Amino acid sequence: MRIANLAGRAVIVVDDRAVDVFEASEGRFGPELQSLYESWDELRDWAATAKPSAGEPLDVARLGAPSPAPSQTFAIGLNYRAHALESGQKVPDDLTVFTKFASSFLGPIGTIALPEGGSTDWEIELVAVMGRGGRQIAEADAWDHVAGLTIGQDLSERALQMRGGVPQFSLAKSFEGFSPMGPWLVTVDELGDPDDLELSSAINGETVQRSRTSDLVFSVPQIISRLSEIVELHPGDVIFTGTPEGVGFGMSPQRYLQDGDVLTSAIEGIGEMTHVFAEAGA
Ligand code: ZN
Repeated sequence: MRIANLAGRAVIVVDDRAVDVFEASEGRFGPELQSLYESWDELRDWAATAKPSAGEPLDVARLGAPSPAPSQTFAIGLNYRAHALESGQKVPDDLTVFTKFASSFLGPIGTIALPEGGSTDWEIELVAVMGRGGRQIAEADAWDHVAGLTIGQDLSERALQMRGGVPQFSLAKSFEGFSPMGPWLVTVDELGDPDDLELSSAINGETVQRSRTSDLVFSVPQIISRLSEIVELHPGDVIFTGTPEGVGFGMSPQRYLQDGDVLTSAIEGIGEMTHVFAEAGA
């Protein structure tokens, strides 16, 4: 099942058409996305037998982030070996966790203003959205708690990220539009091996990142298990799982996004996002 956020309303995507969940379920689920995650098991049962109408043609430009207002957003740093090394860091022995504030969320298509600093970098990431929440979730049970997976970009202003007494991960990764996600949430059953998906990003058609989620230092189940030892996870919570090697910060010379650059982000079995960058005020 593919679930998308069409201008704030939950839709199921069938081929290239959008079926409004609130209308198709006669008001049982929706219209907003969060209510689907809060009734995730019931929604899955309903969707398995529902015979939804044909819906309307899907307008991808109107899509928003699949979980637009989570109670918590987690992002994991340095979670691919080669990326930790290109960042001049050791491969971590525990999660490095920060947040991306929800005011930075954006859908799968759009224009993003480049902030001052001149060092806006790209980070393709697999993003998990929680269905069932909880504490002390065992690694073996973790995938059953995931509503689905989507594509994310953990855009980062590197100069700000490194400024101050300690690194400013959360703020420097939360400028307007710095957390695009989409195009939709794909349930885990639709992905052959959810622990081994190719992910890539390209600038103006030139591939800069290409790896597989099987190279994660901490897998999605390990992240969920470890986080839930400390915090309670809630339905709709968003987890950015980390980026592989190939970011601009790690290049020699370093390379950052420029006015007019087109960034494409793709994950096997999920789809693609496209964002254009513009100088602020341009
Ligand atoms: Zn990241």
